[in-house]
Amino acid sequence: MKVYNVLHRRKEEFVPIEAKSVKMYVCGMTTNGLVHLGHARQAITFDMIYKYLKLKGFSVKYASNYTDIDDRLISQAKERNISPLQLADERIKIINTTWKNLDVAEPDFRPRVTKCIQNIIQFIFDLIEKGYAYETQDGDVYFTVKKFSGYGKLSNRKIDELIDSVRIENAENKRDKLDFALWKHTNEGEFGFPSPWGMGRPGWHIECSAMIKTYLGDQIDIHGGGKDLIFPHHENEIAQSYCENGCDLAKYWLHNGLITINGQKMSKSLGNFMLVDDILKTYDGEIIRYAILVNHYTSTQDLGDEALKLAEKNLYYFYNSLNTIQDYEPNDTLVEKFYESMDDDFNSAKVIADLFVEFSNYSKTKNAKFAGAIMNCLPLLQNILGILKHNPKNFIGKIKQKYLGILNITENEINAIINKRSEAKQQKNYSLADSLRDELLNRGIMLNDTKSGTTWDIKQLY
Ligand SMILES: [Zn+2]
Repeated sequence: MKVYNVLHRRKEEFVPIEAKSVKMYVCGMTTNGLVHLGHARQAITFDMIYKYLKLKGFSVKYASNYTDIDDRLISQAKERNISPLQLADERIKIINTTWKNLDVAEPDFRPRVTKCIQNIIQFIFDLIEKGYAYETQDGDVYFTVKKFSGYGKLSNRKIDELIDSVRIENAENKRDKLDFALWKHTNEGEFGFPSPWGMGRPGWHIECSAMIKTYLGDQIDIHGGGKDLIFPHHENEIAQSYCENGCDLAKYWLHNGLITINGQKMSKSLGNFMLVDDILKTYDGEIIRYAILVNHYTSTQDLGDEALKLAEKNLYYFYNSLNTIQDYEPNDTLVEKFYESMDDDFNSAKVIADLFVEFSNYSKTKNAKFAGAIMNCLPLLQNILGILKHNPKNFIGKIKQKYLGILNITENEINAIINKRSEAKQQKNYSLADSLRDELLNRGIMLNDTKSGTTWDIKQLY
């Protein structure tokens, strides 16, 4: 099995530190908002990886955190006159439901920052003791980047080049521009925790290093996250953990690509920030999963309306084909391809491309071998990729109902027109029959005449 290790910028054979067991950590969400498509891509990517590693026989310990305290969350809570912890609780409940709807399994550990404060403080304390961090007059604590010679190795940057690119935050008491905060003091009346340096809150980077140490140990096999986290977040995690533990934090660094919405970067200011809960009102969770996994996880991917519509269309086609399968000859041709693709850096895009070919062959030939290849692979597609889990008839019915609503036409109306058309045909009034068919087509409904009668379908889905 090969994975693309961002640390070495190449595909490498996956060999965990301890045979047959994998420790994996993925930076989780900050609960100052709800799940958007960027979060969804990351969660679904590592959910697939988690499930596939287990399928391969590894015993996996997977941790992903919630950052349940930050400046924005605190000000949001103030506006609503509730405590930030209460607001975080509220959000986490909603977020967990979203994960369920996306078929994202619960990680083995779901640490929350506010519940790990003691471990974070201990970590920072150690770093000061060892001379890698220092306290300022204000009660802030900074990490001395220049004391860690490996700084920049993940993002492939040199320290000198970094100096210009770093945003200078509250630099007065920092000894060096590059140093980053491990602990920030809070003023009286602000939300904070007691520490050896007075009241304050942990910086963002330190929480992951501390939670990994607490839940998984000093070294893990896979550290994951979005590409946008490579610098400075992951670079800082590497520095802190190495200085604390004296060993590399993670053997493999895996990063999912970013997403664009209709060709544009997703951002609050562009107003194209798509919340998954809103998308779920129109699209089944499986459609979102498919739209994400149809691309390789490292690629930059557009997840606008077109991509979601295409995913819906493709799944509709798959379910319709599944629905026609009656006799099949079981065989493992597609299963073998599945493992081959997934062993090659979790290439779900290739899995789906192969599935497409198989369905298309089956549709053209109705050959029981093609059907058998699909049926044998179905449990893997369902359990690892999380697609084709519905009863085909139910899925098809739900999609049809949705489009009838959009097209503003009812099944009764369609059937009445079909009956009228049959009568016209019986009376050899073909021009009336044709005009009735065209009338439906104009309204988005296409007819298909078969031996057993006329069926209808949604034009947009073909
Ligand atoms: Zn992190």
